[in-house]
Amino acid sequence: QKKYEKGLEKTRKTFKDRMNELFANFRSVDEDFFEEVEDTLIGADVGFDTSMRIADELRQEVKIKNAKKPAAVQNTIIEKLVDLYEEEGEKEVNELNEQPNGLSVFLFVGVNGTGKTTSIGKLAHQYKQEGKKVLLAAADTFRAGAIDQLIEWGARADVEVVYGNTGSDPASVVFDAMTKAKEEQADVLLIDTAGRLQNKVNLMNELDKIKRVIKREDPNAPHEVLLVVDATTGQNAMNQAKQFKETTDVTGLVLTKLDGTAKGGIVLAIRNELHLPVKLAGLGEGIDDLEVFDPNDFVVGLFK
Ligand code: GDP
Repeated sequence: QKKYEKGLEKTRKTFKDRMNELFANFRSVDEDFFEEVEDTLIGADVGFDTSMRIADELRQEVKIKNAKKPAAVQNTIIEKLVDLYEEEGEKEVNELNEQPNGLSVFLFVGVNGTGKTTSIGKLAHQYKQEGKKVLLAAADTFRAGAIDQLIEWGARADVEVVYGNTGSDPASVVFDAMTKAKEEQADVLLIDTAGRLQNKVNLMNELDKIKRVIKREDPNAPHEVLLVVDATTGQNAMNQAKQFKETTDVTGLVLTKLDGTAKGGIVLAIRNELHLPVKLAGLGEGIDDLEVFDPNDFVVGLFK
């Protein structure tokens, strides 16, 4: 939760300041009040539809509970935000699908610059710290820079990187990585891919081929297909997520650069409009600035 307090500073400032102002001038829970709540949520990029839904549920809830005191109303807002995130029956999905016995294979997709390589490096570091054997695969063979960057993160996290030449077949790099992971009885394999959304058919074919190679070794893998999106791009992040969902089966999101935006509410918008769980949150550029996403900590962090 400490991490969220630091990482969400910007969102918190705008969100919390407005909420505080609202509660400071609090006279009664009237229609003006609910409209202010709506505006504050929209301002934090929670999204129009989602903000309306929260405000509506808040109206009902406040009535049912007969909440009149500011603290009670504020608690109801927190409850509603968390409820909305944890849609029924989907409570545990924010945890990564790790295989307790055997290899976990996580595929990372997303456009360049969103923080894919950085997130892989951070997660590799976390698993390494836990004493796990981690391998990285540089299957973004399109850009020379991407391979070098992953090698750099591998060195930083002290884990091995499997790579090929620039322009080589990404699926062959993945094949090598799967073979090595089996041979060395690795616990986790994190695969970086190219994110060229400009050519959707190519991207789809490339990802399909990578998945086929993985499945040949392990029919249940990849255990996660994580889409990396940049929270600072707001609605653009939402559009990218929509497009990637059409390109491949995405199992969850890595939302990066939450520290760099005042609009962290995008988490809730994505969750409710795309029904994709946020599994990891990027809260800075450092190797430790990655958190398994916890909706409760996140929402409470907004109000602290
Ligand atoms: P890729 O092209 O998707 O692999 O993106 P990179 O991993 O190279 O990241 C692009 C830039 O975003 C780099 O300058 C990273 O330091 C930065 N970045 C990545 N994640 C975060 C984050 O959570 N917070 C902040 N502030 N910067 C980040």
